[in-house]
Amino acid sequence: EINENWAKILGYTLRELMPVDMDTWQNLTHPDDLKKCLKMFEDCDKGLINYYESPIRMKHKKGEWVWIRTRGSITTRTEDGKAEFTLGTHLDINAQMIAEANLKEQYDYMQMIFENMIDGVVIVDFNRKIQLFNPSSELIFGYSHKEMINQNIKILLPDFDEIPHDGRLQYTEANRKNGEAFPMEIGIVESKYNRETIFVGMLRDVTERKNAEEAIHKLAYFDGLSGLPNRRLMSDRLQQALLKSVRHETHMAIIFIDFDNFKQINDSLGHDVGDLLLKQISIRLSTLVRESDTVARLGGDEFILILEDLDSQLDIALSQAESVAEGVKAQLNKPYELNGTVYAGSCSIGIAIADEQSITAAELLKQADLAMYQAKLAGKNAIKFFSVEMQEKVNIRMRLEQDLRTTLFNEGFEIFYQPQVDRNGKYIGAEALLRWKHPEKGMISPMQFIPIAEESGLIVPIGQWVLKQACVCLVRWAENPLLADLILAVNISVIELSQDEWVENVLNTLQSTGANPFRLKLEVTESVMAFDIEMVIAKLTVLREKGISISLDDFGTGYSSLTYLKSLPLNQLKIDQSFVRDILVDQNDLAIAETIINLANMMDLDVIAEGVETEEQLKILKEKGCKSFQGYLFGRPEPIEAFEQAFI
Ligand code: C2E
Ligand code: CA
Ligand code: CA
Repeated sequence: EINENWAKILGYTLRELMPVDMDTWQNLTHPDDLKKCLKMFEDCDKGLINYYESPIRMKHKKGEWVWIRTRGSITTRTEDGKAEFTLGTHLDINAQMIAEANLKEQYDYMQMIFENMIDGVVIVDFNRKIQLFNPSSELIFGYSHKEMINQNIKILLPDFDEIPHDGRLQYTEANRKNGEAFPMEIGIVESKYNRETIFVGMLRDVTERKNAEEAIHKLAYFDGLSGLPNRRLMSDRLQQALLKSVRHETHMAIIFIDFDNFKQINDSLGHDVGDLLLKQISIRLSTLVRESDTVARLGGDEFILILEDLDSQLDIALSQAESVAEGVKAQLNKPYELNGTVYAGSCSIGIAIADEQSITAAELLKQADLAMYQAKLAGKNAIKFFSVEMQEKVNIRMRLEQDLRTTLFNEGFEIFYQPQVDRNGKYIGAEALLRWKHPEKGMISPMQFIPIAEESGLIVPIGQWVLKQACVCLVRWAENPLLADLILAVNISVIELSQDEWVENVLNTLQSTGANPFRLKLEVTESVMAFDIEMVIAKLTVLREKGISISLDDFGTGYSSLTYLKSLPLNQLKIDQSFVRDILVDQNDLAIAETIINLANMMDLDVIAEGVETEEQLKILKEKGCKSFQGYLFGRPEPIEAFEQAFI
């Protein structure tokens, strides 16, 4: 028998379930639970138990399973001990079971999080004894959970009590089992458990982050190869040193060091060896300076020393800086062992000292750089102080360069023509020589401004202008039978020649002006041979094929290899005027001039002597077999009108 409530728990009326028997009950019970129940009944039946109780699932009318607590006891037994009547109750425990299941689920999740979270979690009781220690904590500290339970947290975190208990992240130092101290980020919250105060700590090993931060700092401020401060950090330090020297009324200096011929080593021995050398230089420099000084690498083979706290008296400060520089030079000039080979090196050093309050870090650095450059110019392996005169020279040069630039725009140049003659003194041609009429300084010698034009690259447009004028001149001459056969020589700088478009430009100029290439001669110096010789040969050959002739200027003063000489498409050697000048007094010069003439004959080249000023010079050159001549004896360089006068 069941009552109305029994049916109601499952959503039925009693009538709906009628008639009831064991099957009614069995059909409604979850198959999994049914087995358990049948076993219980069986045990009851056997007399093993008198009472049963179990949560079971039964089918609700709506179709879902609901939890029910069934319990009951045997009220009467038959004579042979079998259960005869059982009195039982059903209690609806569905809501409770669901709540419990949720709780269990939540707890499982919590457990999962606790065990798998990347951060360490440690729970500490009021006495600072560890009560919980999750697997991440084990990983971080190297202790096992078991080892740590009931241990004082201060073993791990000595500053535990100084950390506020407000959950905010803090840095602290922590200890690993192996004794290593490491940076930790930790947040501690105070809480209650069973009415006792506890502390929950969330902690994170930030060693890697700290390392990364340090690495970033290093990358930003230090040179990767040498480990020395880089340009950026050097600038900071320089600025500070300047301020300090003003405050303390002391002097400070910059020593600018550039290793001599580093590029050659790098190119010939390879970059690895170059790096090795730079490292050794860095180490040597580091050992030379005091703690308070800075050694920095600017890049390449350039190093900077910042010397602080030099004497307040300028002359003493200067000698202090100089002695450091001498020390640097001596150190860096000692041999280097690079991959088993011993290498000797030297360096060029510039020193600039801050003597005026107003000088900026950038200016001081520039001054030291300039002084170093002067040391290089002085033949390397030298020390130079920056001086006002040095600056003055630079300023003049810079102004000149500026003026050159504007002259180029205003076409403030002029070409002078100097005759070239044959053995009979007959004009066979001329050399075009550039003149610059400076608005204030008057005539400026090409000796002065050509090097500046070369260094600044201005020689390219200037050279183009000269060639154009020369071609225009040739076209004019072509119309006059007296001038039509003259060959006009134009000087070509190696800088021009090395431009990719040079050959094309020359040919274009010839074409656009209509000048005859067979009347044009280009004078190149021996320095072209120190260049990419294949490139030079290729370019000159193209021009030769168009009929242009090539003369090798200033011959004998530079470096010529006979092999190269043979492979260049030359027409003429030009004996440098330095040999002609003393040809009557200096036997060597005579010998050289003679050798050049013979060489030209042997190579089937024309030969011309320049700078011929006297009849005696001419006579001896003729005796030796020279074929053509140029010099004041025949005519100075003159404006075109004056030059052409000679033919009328
Ligand atoms: P260079 O090519 O060796 O030119 C010869 C120089 O010797 C010229 O000096 C000329 O005036 C001078 N000279 C000629 N005959 C005599 C003489 O009998 N005695 C003495 N003492 N000197 C004589 P200039 O005109 O001052 O030119 C100097 C240098 O400037 C030239 O040397 C050449 O290297 C360069 N240069 C001149 N014009 C140009 C140009 O248009 N382009 C390039 N790239 N360089 C040029
Ligand atoms: Ca020349
Ligand atoms: Ca010359």
